[in-house]
Amino acid sequence: MKLVTVVGARPQFIKAAAVSREIAQHSDMQELIVHTGQHFDSNMSDIFFEEMRIPRPQYRLDIHSMGHGAMTGRMLEGIEGILADEKPDAVVVYGDTNSTLAGALAAKKLHVSVAHVEAGLRSFNMTMPEEINRILTDRISDLLLCPTDNAVLNLRREGYGDFPCTVLKTGDVMQDAALFYSAISAKASTLLERLDLHGEPYALCTVHRAENTDSPERLDAIVAALNTIAASMRVVLPLHPRTAALLPRDALVERIARIDPVGYFDMLELLKHTNIVLTDSGGLQKEAFFFAKPCVTLRDETEWVELVEGGYNALAGANAETIVSSFSTMLGRRPDFDQDLYGRGSASGKIVEALKRLGTDGRSIAR
Ligand code: UDP
Repeated sequence: MKLVTVVGARPQFIKAAAVSREIAQHSDMQELIVHTGQHFDSNMSDIFFEEMRIPRPQYRLDIHSMGHGAMTGRMLEGIEGILADEKPDAVVVYGDTNSTLAGALAAKKLHVSVAHVEAGLRSFNMTMPEEINRILTDRISDLLLCPTDNAVLNLRREGYGDFPCTVLKTGDVMQDAALFYSAISAKASTLLERLDLHGEPYALCTVHRAENTDSPERLDAIVAALNTIAASMRVVLPLHPRTAALLPRDALVERIARIDPVGYFDMLELLKHTNIVLTDSGGLQKEAFFFAKPCVTLRDETEWVELVEGGYNALAGANAETIVSSFSTMLGRRPDFDQDLYGRGSASGKIVEALKRLGTDGRSIAR
């Protein structure tokens, strides 16, 4: 079976790393990787391929730093050419970026089967580019690989039981990646020593989502909250380039370690030793749970509702007072982190088995 995997952004490299490792165990499967170039800085792209030993992309489209329409359009054109040449049995796409949508659309128009990893997630906020990308991708996918029961339920409610596709709950590949790589990250990472963090409590924070960076009011409120929190606990803030470009150097107090984006191994070490996570990232919310850390989410809603329902995560939006009070409340919480919400590392195996069955299964909706 010949697969083309389309990736372009940091979280997709991490997810594809887990599935690629599994595909490599099957001698009857061949995977070609297309890197659209959406993330291109070495600390947002190359470092992930190197550390996690993801197979080198056969194709690099180098498409980045442009508006959504131009970016998605050029990716569509580039990917279509590759698929016409390679004639794969299926295209695998991950998550909710422009690369996801372009990969799925190019494949579907050429009648190549589409497998969507992380299908069925919804924020129910149609102003988010991610929500638009994921809804459109789901609708044209043949194999919808859902990380959670809630994701399956979302698709069921949207009528996917009547659509010609297969919906399957697999668990979350990010937990596969976190389990595998966290066993080897300590040897490779020196970040905690470099930041002099060993033994000292700290909060780990990331901010990059357009709804926060595109709104000066929201970004100011988040900065005010972090400056307040830093009075009681150090804050480590690996800054996405989009956010870094908007934040003047003096916006943050000195006790906040403003650092460049880090590789996955450094991030895993930061997660293992932090006291709490504050983030607007989808991936970080789950990783906080994987490492039994409370999380405050800097958004008004989340796709990972089971974390909020289970008391692992508090939605604080971008209100300074709510963020600070949620920080204090969550620090004192001790929820049961032993719950199996994401499959405990079994997702990639299920995804690869489902890929093998693709085309022979007919359509089904299953939990
Ligand atoms: N991440 C990383 N280095 C960083 C920030 C994030 O390795 O400096 C990882 C993080 O651990 C998670 C993924 O990137 O696995 C999340 O990516 P991002 O927040 O960009 O996207 P989202 O999850 O919101 O789609």
